[in-house]
Amino acid sequence: MGDSDTPESLAVVPQLTTFVRQVVKETERMISYFFKGEEEEEGVVASHLERPVTFLEREGGSGNGLRYGLGAMQGWRVEMEDAHTAVPSLPPALDSWSFFAVYDGHGGSRVARYCSEHLLRHVRGNWDFSRGGQASVEKVKRGIRAGFLQIDSRMQRVWRFTSWGCSGSTVVAVTVSPTHVYFINCGDSRAVLRRAGGTHFYTEDHKPFLPREHERIRRAGGTVTLQRVNGSLAVSRALGDFNFKAAEWRSQTEQLVSPEPEVYEIERSDKDQFIILACDGIWDIISNEDLCQFVSSRLQLTDSLEEVCSQVIHVCLYKGSRDNMSIILICFPNAPKVSEEAILREEELNAHIEQKVIESFKQQLEDGEPNLFDVMQSLAMEEIPNLPPGGGLSSKRDFIIDVYKRLKDEQKNSRDSEESR
Ligand code: MN
Repeated sequence: MGDSDTPESLAVVPQLTTFVRQVVKETERMISYFFKGEEEEEGVVASHLERPVTFLEREGGSGNGLRYGLGAMQGWRVEMEDAHTAVPSLPPALDSWSFFAVYDGHGGSRVARYCSEHLLRHVRGNWDFSRGGQASVEKVKRGIRAGFLQIDSRMQRVWRFTSWGCSGSTVVAVTVSPTHVYFINCGDSRAVLRRAGGTHFYTEDHKPFLPREHERIRRAGGTVTLQRVNGSLAVSRALGDFNFKAAEWRSQTEQLVSPEPEVYEIERSDKDQFIILACDGIWDIISNEDLCQFVSSRLQLTDSLEEVCSQVIHVCLYKGSRDNMSIILICFPNAPKVSEEAILREEELNAHIEQKVIESFKQQLEDGEPNLFDVMQSLAMEEIPNLPPGGGLSSKRDFIIDVYKRLKDEQKNSRDSEESR
């Protein structure tokens, strides 16, 4: 970095965008790794990797008039502890129903994995739920709750007699019937329903400091410190976590950590557009409204829901998510459609950004050797119109890097040919 890039001079730029802050943060992280990496205490298990695992698990499908896509990435974490379930059409008798869930594991992936394979079976196994359309809404909700309590009891029995470790998992799920959407939440992952261009509904995160949760924790003999249950667990409801479910004088739903989900039913509407299910690795980085706007704008450019999920995960990674990331996008028939106009607008945007990258590259070439950091920084200082809502410049990072690499190659080739002359 040249003298003009010292933090002091950055500080005087009135509108230092989050993007630049992010780039700076990433650089600091790299530097602190290089200088402090070896000083890390021995015996302390690192929770983050030296560089992120960016392999992206993708999936897509359709059923019952719904389309879905999902994406999952390990990211900076040492282990992938998230899991998911996507069943666009349940087995016969309930085949007009769909089920989708994201599980965010902690302390290991065991509980999350087990739930992704067996939770739906436990829910379906309930008479109340299994009668589907013939049952009242209240009974369906009761069946869902019972399924959660059953799988948790079952896992607890296994945990007592084997070496299952002490992992746990949050669950956020939806089951879509022909008439209703049932939102199911246990923990701090989140589901959002987009309807008629607005956020119609979202689930509430179960944090230990919420009055209702705090009260239950207190009654079970626990405390909430540092916003955590007994100073250690950052979520107040989860499956597993049996070390927090040992108050034998209290019922299953009155423990320090409760396996009871909150279930809300929403009557379906023609105006329903999409549902997003995602873990906190996504929501800690991007707000409900921003993510919905970003997804809406991407749905006008591609009908691949997997691709949209992939872009969301990359934006969150670039904006600094250090956690595992999982997202499921479920589209109703009335979701935003690919539009010629939106595609043209995006092409114009790309052309504009490309031009800016070229200008910055040339400018730097005059002073010495161009580098990506300075290109990114100069772009962040520009007022670029029509950047994707909610995604901003971060959602264009891959594109910027492609252009930059091309310029680098061109520069190298022209140097090589000059030398050979
Ligand atoms: Mn997480």
